[in-house]
Amino acid sequence: MTEPLPTGATIGILGGGQLGRMLAVAAARLGLRSHIFEPGPNPPAGDVAHAVTTAPYEDEAALRAFAGSVDVITYEFENIPTSALDLLEHLRPIRPSREALRISQDRFSEKTFLCDLGLQTAPYAAVDDAASLSKAIAETGLPAILKTRRFGYDGKGQARLVSPDDAAQALKDMANAPAILEGFIDFTHEVSVIGARSAMGDIACFDPGENLHEGGILRTTTLPASLTPSQRSDAILLTANILNKLDYIGVMGVELFVTRQGLIVNEIAPRVHNSGHWTQNACAVDQFEQHIRAVAGWPLGDGRRFADVVMENLIGDDMGRVPALASEPGTALHLYGKADIKPGRKMGHVNRIKPRS
Ligand code: AMP
Repeated sequence: MTEPLPTGATIGILGGGQLGRMLAVAAARLGLRSHIFEPGPNPPAGDVAHAVTTAPYEDEAALRAFAGSVDVITYEFENIPTSALDLLEHLRPIRPSREALRISQDRFSEKTFLCDLGLQTAPYAAVDDAASLSKAIAETGLPAILKTRRFGYDGKGQARLVSPDDAAQALKDMANAPAILEGFIDFTHEVSVIGARSAMGDIACFDPGENLHEGGILRTTTLPASLTPSQRSDAILLTANILNKLDYIGVMGVELFVTRQGLIVNEIAPRVHNSGHWTQNACAVDQFEQHIRAVAGWPLGDGRRFADVVMENLIGDDMGRVPALASEPGTALHLYGKADIKPGRKMGHVNRIKPRS
C-alpha cells in the first residue's frame, strides 16, 4: 500500500474498547470507515463503527472475511494472539508493523531493544523460577518489581520486592508466567510522549504530558509537564529515535521516568495511549486522527498544543460525578458508553482546558 487511502476506504481495527471507539470517530471525521473485530459482545467501539465482527481471534473464517472487507488493519491493544496476526498479515497491511508489536508484547525484548538503541531503562533480568529470581536480585538490587513479561496492563501482574524474603510470594503472584525483575527507579515524576510517524517517514510528537498513577492506573495527565527545555527535547528526540528504528507507521506512547540521572524509558505502547487523550481538546489534530492519518498513508496533521490541559480519567464510581462535570465550565466530557460500572474500569475521561500559559 503506497498511495494514501481515498475517503470511503475502510480501516480494520482489532479490539473494540474505548481506544477503538475514539479511533473510529477520528476515521469518520476524515470520511473513512472503520470495521471493528472484537470477541466480546457490545464493544464500546461498535456504537460508532461502520461494521463490527464479533468473533474470537481463533476464528479463521471470520478473520479472513474481516480482512477482505478492509483496506488496512490496525489495533488498539497489544495482546492480540500471534496466530491471528500470522493469518492477517498475508491478507492486508498491518500498521504499526508486526515487529513493533512483537517487541512491545514482551517486557524483556522491549528493554533489550531500548538498551540496544542506547536508551536508559531500569536494570532488568529475566526470571523463570526461584533460582533465576535470586540471581536477578543480585543483578538489579532491591527494592525491585517483578512483572510478567507479557499481558500486563494498568499495574496488573506486578509484585514489589523490598527484601529477599518477599521472593517466594512475588514468584507465586506471577502464577508461573515468565517474568522480568526490574530495579526500582527513584523518579521525581512520570511523563509520556505520544509520537507519530507517517508512511512517508515524517515524525510529529505531541508535547510531553505529566502522568499521575493511582493503584497502577493512570489518574491524570497534565500539560505542560514539569520538564526543563533540554529534558523536553530529550524526550521528543528519543521517541523519534524509537519510531525511526522500527520504521514505525502510526502513533506510539512512550512512558518515561524523570530522574536526576536523566530520562529512563519505562515502556512503549504501539498504539494510541490513555496519556494522549488530552490532545482531543488542546490540539487541532489529536492522537486518534494522527494515528488514522498515518495508517491510511495520509500526511500527519498539526498536533501543536494550543491550551493548557488536565486530563482526568473517570474510573468506576466516578460516573456518579458526570452530571456535575457536564455543566463544569472549561471541561470537555468523553464517555465510552460502557453499560457496567466496575471498580477500576475506565468509563470515560474529562479534559479541563485553560489558555496556554
Ligand atoms: P508499568 O505497568 O510497567 O507501566 O508500571 C505501572 C507503574 O508502576 C508505573 O507507571 C510506575 O509508577 C510504577 N513502576 C513500574 N516500574 C517501575 C520501576 N522499575 N521503578 C519504579 N516504579 C515503577
